[in-house]
Amino acid sequence: MASFDAVVIGAGAAGLFCAGMAGQLGSRVLLIDHGAKVAEKIRISGGGRCNFTNREVGHSNFLSANPHFCRSALARYTPQDFLALMARHQIAWHEKHKGQLFCDHSAQDIITMLLAECAKGQVERRQPCGVQAVRHTGSAFELDTDRGTVSAAKVVVATGGLSIPKIGASDFGYRLARQFGHRVIEPRPALVPLTFASADWEPLVPLAGLSLPVHVRTGAGKAAGQFLEDLLFTHRGLSGPAVLQISSYWQPGTALQINLAPDTDLEESLRQAKASSRRQLANELGSLLPARLAQAWLSTRVGMADKPMADQRDKDLQQLATSLQSWQLTPNGTEGYAKAEVTAGGIDTRELSSQTMESQRTPGLYFIGEVVDVTGWLGGYNFQWAWASAAACARAMSQATSMSQ
Ligand SMILES: Cc1cc2nc3c(=O)[nH]c(=O)nc-3n(C[C@H](O)[C@H](O)[C@H](O)COP(=O)(O)OP(=O)(O)OC[C@H]3O[C@@H](n4cnc5c(N)ncnc54)[C@H](O)[C@@H]3O)c2cc1C
Repeated sequence: MASFDAVVIGAGAAGLFCAGMAGQLGSRVLLIDHGAKVAEKIRISGGGRCNFTNREVGHSNFLSANPHFCRSALARYTPQDFLALMARHQIAWHEKHKGQLFCDHSAQDIITMLLAECAKGQVERRQPCGVQAVRHTGSAFELDTDRGTVSAAKVVVATGGLSIPKIGASDFGYRLARQFGHRVIEPRPALVPLTFASADWEPLVPLAGLSLPVHVRTGAGKAAGQFLEDLLFTHRGLSGPAVLQISSYWQPGTALQINLAPDTDLEESLRQAKASSRRQLANELGSLLPARLAQAWLSTRVGMADKPMADQRDKDLQQLATSLQSWQLTPNGTEGYAKAEVTAGGIDTRELSSQTMESQRTPGLYFIGEVVDVTGWLGGYNFQWAWASAAACARAMSQATSMSQ
């Protein structure tokens, strides 16, 4: 039976990074993936340019039932560390909106870099290669795979979340965690478009394709989330960065509150226009908001659109302003894992070491990346978590390896 210091299951962002680093730190590593290709999510990320990290990363950019868990790993492997690695591989990048860093050329540059790092660490790769069973034999693990049984002192689970099943996502990590007695925080689609009942949405269907900056919020207390970002109307509901971000905080059955004109005091603007403007309300509102939005909003308010500003009732104008600046709406669901960028929830971090990502139940078993209950905002945070959790694990494994030699 072939024997390794560590077997890493899942050759995505976290698995490739961890395998390469552990190999270079002296561990004999086998990296297994059930897909024919590695890192498919890196390939499709950031519109093909991979938003690989963010300039500013802190624990408040992540959701978790254990919000401080990610601090240690993030502090010990920073965006600057990843940029230094990219510099060594001469990969050009640029900064976009809100500190988001993208490859100049292609996401493939990152994949090529991670594969080169694995080669440098003499990592053995097997793919496509499924894993049927993992047993703990006391001092080591045995894994039954499509290419025979292997043994290792350590097993790293880097199988990611459930989003985009057609490119290899599976629930393997959650099943394995449960097998070893770990709790799993119920997984749910996150960074995902939200949908609404078709009867409620009907009047807004003509707005499909419209994008505008909004302020959106949901939840209360520690579970509250709020973002100032662009919103996109779709045929079935809402998308765009504002809605993808808030979807991670949204709980089924609860409402969102959206300010569709975050930079304007609409009530005051309409009050002033009533005193001075000769225009009809439709024209006046159309100068304060995108015209299509103004038109759709007024289509449900009988008789208001064509009436001159001077003839509008104060109460009606006030209600109109409130409906646009405190728009309350309750999604009936999400577009699901087929469209979600990530999976929120996952392996409960209260049973993992925040220093090493090692199981507190089964020494030698590690969980890294998205399979863990740490979910980043949109903007490069999920990849930074993949790199940082992988680095914490790789360093810890190599310390353990060198001590046992
Ligand atoms: C469309 C899209 C765009 C995204 N864009 C960005 C972005 O720009 N910036 C950002 O920070 N994040 C982005 N993300 C999120 C990011 O891709 C993930 O958070 C990140 O890839 C997680 O890394 P991971 O290694 O934990 O999991 P993954 O990268 O998903 O890798 C998991 C690996 O495990 C393998 N695997 C699964 N089950 C098994 C099994 N049973 N046996 C063997 N192997 C298995 C899979 O084949 C896969 O290779 C995006 C996600 C999507 C879907």
